[in-house]
Amino acid sequence: MFLSRLAESVEPYTAGEQIGEGYVKLNTNENPYPPSPRAAKTLRESDASRLRLYPQPNADGLRRAIAQAEGVDEENVFCANGSDEALALCFPAFFDEDGKGACFADVTYSFYPVFASFFRIPTVVVPVKEDYSIDLAAMAKADCGGYFIANPNAPTSLGIGRAQIEAFVASVDKLVILDEAYMDFFGESCAALTKRYANLLVVKTFSKSYSLAGMRCGYAIGQSGLIEGLRRMRDCFNSYPVDAVCQAVCAAAVSDRSYHDETVRLVVSERERLKTALRSRGLWVADSASNFLFVRFSETGGKYIYESLKAKKILVRFWDKPKLSEFCRITVGTPSQNEALLEALDTILR
Ligand SMILES: *Cc1c(COP(=O)(O)O)cnc(C)c1O
Repeated sequence: MFLSRLAESVEPYTAGEQIGEGYVKLNTNENPYPPSPRAAKTLRESDASRLRLYPQPNADGLRRAIAQAEGVDEENVFCANGSDEALALCFPAFFDEDGKGACFADVTYSFYPVFASFFRIPTVVVPVKEDYSIDLAAMAKADCGGYFIANPNAPTSLGIGRAQIEAFVASVDKLVILDEAYMDFFGESCAALTKRYANLLVVKTFSKSYSLAGMRCGYAIGQSGLIEGLRRMRDCFNSYPVDAVCQAVCAAAVSDRSYHDETVRLVVSERERLKTALRSRGLWVADSASNFLFVRFSETGGKYIYESLKAKKILVRFWDKPKLSEFCRITVGTPSQNEALLEALDTILR
């Protein structure tokens, strides 16, 4: 029915449910706190008559603000419609259909294999270790064209320290794309290392620590050749991926360091409290470096917990995949949301 073979055969990514009011929503790793008041003010005061004009294709003001916050030069920043878009553009920008392929872990962000198949890039998948950590030693030995590493990783929540990442980047002479979507909750960003390593591209987002998932903005940091590759791919697809309002709002958010850092601190302290509370109930919980917890429900399986919580109007994330079937991924919420989760779990597990 009019569809291409590609459209008929791809297996698209399934995003977490976005269902309306009445749910305690702990399933898509959104920030439970509102965006910066400075960002909200910029949104309120944005001038609709200016929307007559196309936005700046390179998001210059936003790139300047990001560069300042990240301690890099603005020419080394590339902005996209969500970091998913920046990650997607990396596949055609840095990999060939007949090349050695993109290497990533199993398990990791499940969008990577979708992008790879969409752009027909071969993949080299390296299993995580017994403890679910990414096997950097095995990845270094993989015969591939480059790497995608989510750090902290999703959905395992585990982080790898800066020194270990730097050693990996220094030891492989292939491109390393670091997806730092959750990095602000860990504090080991390698963004500044892009100045020293030509083979490092760091991708970050406004969706998690900045509480702006609905705005759709992400960015990549790397040396000019890499940024040029991303721009070339963007301009084959959509020259204006970041709208004018988004540019202004995200620039305001990234310049409000104190609000950002305070929000991150609140989420991290709640994460530790929730982790301890879950462990005290006899559950295995990974040592999270992110804003969510990777929790094992060996007795019931993850699906039963997901369904039982949903019946109680609490949403968490579950994947019906071999390595993940005993787990749920639970976003850290506000103290009262987390209490609601614990209470519901106590009833379900009793
Ligand atoms: C949430 C997330 C992203 C960010 O996606 P956006 O498109 O920026 O909202 C990227 N990578 C991982 C691993 C994520 O979990």
